[in-house]
Amino acid sequence: MALVNIHFLNLQNNYLFADIAKKVNAFRVMHPKADVISLGIGDVTQPLCPAVIEAMHKAVDEMATAEGFRGYGPEQGYAFLREAILKNDFVPRGVRLSIDEVFINDGAKSDTGNFQELLHWDNFIGVTDPIYPVYIDSNVMIGRCGTYRDGRWTNVRYMPTTAENGFIPELPKGRPVDVIYLCYPNNPTGTVITKQELRKWVNYALKNDALILFDAAYQAYIQDPEIPHSIYEIRGARKCAIEFRSFSKTAGFTGVRCGYTIVPKDVSVSTFEGERIPLNQLWLRRQCTKFNGTSYISQRAAEAIYSPEGKQQVQQTIDYYMQNAKKMLSVLHNLGFECYGGENAPYIWMRTPDGMGSWQFFEALLYGANVVCTPGVGFGPSGEGYVRFTAFGSHERTQEALLRIEKWQRGV
Ligand SMILES: *Cc1c(COP(=O)(O)O)cnc(C)c1O
Repeated sequence: MALVNIHFLNLQNNYLFADIAKKVNAFRVMHPKADVISLGIGDVTQPLCPAVIEAMHKAVDEMATAEGFRGYGPEQGYAFLREAILKNDFVPRGVRLSIDEVFINDGAKSDTGNFQELLHWDNFIGVTDPIYPVYIDSNVMIGRCGTYRDGRWTNVRYMPTTAENGFIPELPKGRPVDVIYLCYPNNPTGTVITKQELRKWVNYALKNDALILFDAAYQAYIQDPEIPHSIYEIRGARKCAIEFRSFSKTAGFTGVRCGYTIVPKDVSVSTFEGERIPLNQLWLRRQCTKFNGTSYISQRAAEAIYSPEGKQQVQQTIDYYMQNAKKMLSVLHNLGFECYGGENAPYIWMRTPDGMGSWQFFEALLYGANVVCTPGVGFGPSGEGYVRFTAFGSHERTQEALLRIEKWQRGV
C-alpha cells in the first residue's frame, strides 16, 4: 500500500495569492467594467535588458551548431557564471569565496525550500514574522513544524518584526533555535538589517552552533551604502551561514529562472555523536542526485548582467522600480498612512488605518479604489494590521493607482 507523506496534509490550504485572486474575481464579476490595478503580487513587469537578450540569442545560436551544442552541464553551474559572481558580487565587498562554494540554481525558491533536506527532522527552526511563506511550508512538508494552531505552528519560533520593535527581530530567548531564516532586504516588510544587527545573529549562531539561512534575493535594491548586501560581510558568517541569491528581482529573471546559493566549506553541522559534517559536500551530493543544472541559455543570460552594459541596464530597471517606491511612499505618507520599507527594497509595508484588519483593508481598497494590495496577515501572525504594496508595476499604472487611492481617501 502506498502511504502518503502525512505532513503534506498539514499544509495550510489557503495559499495567499489564490485567496487574493478569488476575491478579485468576485469583485470583477460584480463590476465587469472596473479596471483593477494590482500592487499586490511580487512579480516584476519590465522586460529583460538588451544585454541579456543579446546573450540569450547568442546562446541559442551556439546550441544550433554541433560545436556549440551543450547537453547536461555541470550540476553546480558553469564556471563562467560562478567566476563572474565571485568577481562582481563578492570581491568588491571584501568577501573572498572559492568557486566550489557557489551553486547555480533555477531560482532561489527551489534552494530555500530544498536546503532543509540536509538537516535532521527535529531541528528547531526560527523565522522572523512576517515571513516569505516558503521557509515554513518547506519545513512543514517534512514534519518539522508541529501542528498549526491559531495561525501559528507549535514547533516554530516566531520572531516578530513590527513597527513596535522598529522591525528589528530580537534574539530568541529560552530554548535555542537550531536553524534561523533571515531575509534582508525583507519580503514582505521592505526593511533592512544593519551590519551591527546582523552581527548579533551571526554571533548567536556561532555561540549556539545554529545555522543561518540568509535570503538576499533583494540585495540589488539596497541604496544605503552602510547596509550589508551579503551576510559574509560579517566576520564569522562563513562558519554558520548559507546565502541564497536570485536574478529574479535583480534582473527580471522570474520567467528565465536562474539564481545561486553560497555554501561555504567552513559551515558544518553535527551528528548525534558530535562528528562535524561539512554542508558543502552534502549539498553537492544532493544536487548531483536531484538536480541536473540550470539551462545553459539562462546561465549565459545571467552572465550578461555582469558586463559593463548589462550592469548599467539592470541598474536602470532597478532605479525605475525604486522611483515607483519613492512616489508611493510620498503619496501614502501625505495621506497620513504609516509606511515602512520602500527605501532599500521594492516593497512598502503599510499599517492599516484605525486598527483595521489586513483583509478588511484589502477589501476596502479593492472596492474603494479598485487597487489590489497584499494582506499582511498572509505572511504570518505579526503581519495582521498591515498590507504590502509592491513597486514592480509600470510608472503609468502605479501613478494611476496612487491617484485613485488619493481620490478614495479624500472622498472626491
Ligand atoms: C522572489 C523571491 C525569491 C526569488 O525566487 P526565485 O525562485 O529566484 O524566482 C526568493 N526569496 C524571496 C523572499 C523572494 O521574494
